[in-house]
Amino acid sequence: MNTSQDNNKAMSETLVFDGAYRGARKGTDFLQHLENYPPELWYQGKRIENICHFSPLKNGVKTLAALYDYQWDHSELMLESIEGRKVSRSYSITKDRSDLIAVGKALLIGAQFSQGMLGRDPAYLNRSITSFAGSADFFDIGGRVFSNNVRDYFRFARDNDLALTHTIVNPRINRHAGPAFQKDPTISTHVTKETDAGIYVTGARLVATLPFADEIAVLPARLLDVSNASKDYAFAFVLPTNTAGLKFICRDSVDYGMGSRNHPLGGRYEEMDAVAIFDNVFVPWERVFCYRDIDICNRFYEATGATAHITYQVVCKNIVKIEFFLGLISLMIHGSGLERFQHIHQKMADVWVGWQTMKAFKSAAEVGSRLNDFGMLVPDWSPLEAARFMFPSMYPRIVEIVQQIGASGLVTLPTSEDLDGPLRTEIDKYFQSARLEAADKIDLYRLAWDASVSAFAGRQVLYERFFFGDPVSMATRIFRNNPCSDLMERVNHFIK
Ligand SMILES: Cc1cc2nc3c(=O)[nH]c(=O)nc-3n(C[C@H](O)[C@H](O)[C@H](O)COP(=O)(O)OP(=O)(O)OC[C@H]3O[C@@H](n4cnc5c(N)ncnc54)[C@H](O)[C@@H]3O)c2cc1C
Repeated sequence: MNTSQDNNKAMSETLVFDGAYRGARKGTDFLQHLENYPPELWYQGKRIENICHFSPLKNGVKTLAALYDYQWDHSELMLESIEGRKVSRSYSITKDRSDLIAVGKALLIGAQFSQGMLGRDPAYLNRSITSFAGSADFFDIGGRVFSNNVRDYFRFARDNDLALTHTIVNPRINRHAGPAFQKDPTISTHVTKETDAGIYVTGARLVATLPFADEIAVLPARLLDVSNASKDYAFAFVLPTNTAGLKFICRDSVDYGMGSRNHPLGGRYEEMDAVAIFDNVFVPWERVFCYRDIDICNRFYEATGATAHITYQVVCKNIVKIEFFLGLISLMIHGSGLERFQHIHQKMADVWVGWQTMKAFKSAAEVGSRLNDFGMLVPDWSPLEAARFMFPSMYPRIVEIVQQIGASGLVTLPTSEDLDGPLRTEIDKYFQSARLEAADKIDLYRLAWDASVSAFAGRQVLYERFFFGDPVSMATRIFRNNPCSDLMERVNHFIK
């Protein structure tokens, strides 16, 4: 294991600052970094040569850059001053409730940038890295000292204002056994060699959303069984996405390249998902957060408060996402004159109740927040766990409501080219609605289509169902952690 002297030396080699100034960055800084250090992304059989100009990805890249500018436009809420410079508030190590509420305001305004459609808004993983740093002593509990690595990396990420992707899942070959007990135990990312300088890893990991991020966090895949064989899969580390030997195989883009008027969501918010493949990749020690310690890996997220903090970010995002749908559905109802139908009231009420529920969970998490064992304030987990469990079924229902209200309006959609073409007079006549001119109705319903029918919409539903893990396992966790024995006793008492 490295000494702190070695650590400092290595630090200067792999955690170097790269940018025009330290702290919150602007869009051009992000683009410059991506141009200088492009990750190896593969798309439909070819390596992407220039990510910033590659059609299936370029709008998503531009959007992420614009988010870095947006934080400066909303600097009062989204940035804070640390050591004389502005940094993103999503890196705030919360010490009291007012810190948490300030973070919440930053997360809400940040989510408004993308209507809650960017799952991998950098704030998401910033909350994770920040929780690790705020609870850094946890990483030394197993007897090996990793807390310095965690703290140094936190400062490095914050001061460079990095965007991270992450992978927490082993490839799904056979879910009946852990990665060490598959027919081929070399499929999942595992350690192949350890040296004085670091470790070498080989294998695949799922799913890196935002593979064009600056760095990747490879975090413990949950619940490894306690066996020697599983130790090769027990680690957490961070690497630049352009590290030698690391490649990403991307899915098809959900940006059809039709421009943002025709494709208002997919034409802006394609964050991409990829499988990460490690081919004898070297990880220097100072980028390792835990190693071969299954107990630490299995307690990693809960003990540091990371699960609660990222769920708090997700709940803020989901509040904004529901607000977007409420606005969209209201415009559809008004535009098509549907306000007199009772089933429409019921549908609208369902979405509104979902919105109130998410806001109530957020408030409850703030009110019940407590300092953890390491002195970091962590939002109350129970309301967040309820929110995390509820949203994967709430979101598909909201999307279904858009489909039910939109009906054939979601497939009778001329493009902007049609509007500018020779059939404009016919389109103006035949595509109008009760209260909207044809062009306005088409713009509105194109948005509704992209929120409920397009490939972008389908991927959003899948994302909300699964990105936080398997919902079946979440139910099992809730069942096991909430035996309700006091309530059984109360009911028993009532019976007797
Ligand atoms: C769009 C999208 C983006 C994502 N982004 C990320 C990301 O950025 N980073 C990341 O790390 N992960 C990401 N994920 C992956 C996500 O964490 C996984 O999808 C999730 O953990 C489920 O794992 P799986 O997809 O391998 O499904 P599997 O585990 O293979 O499950 C398949 C089916 O089998 C069932 N099943 C599996 N095991 C059991 C069991 N023991 N008991 C009962 N039923 C079981 C599941 O309920 C499910 O119905 C993303 C997923 C999606 C869809």
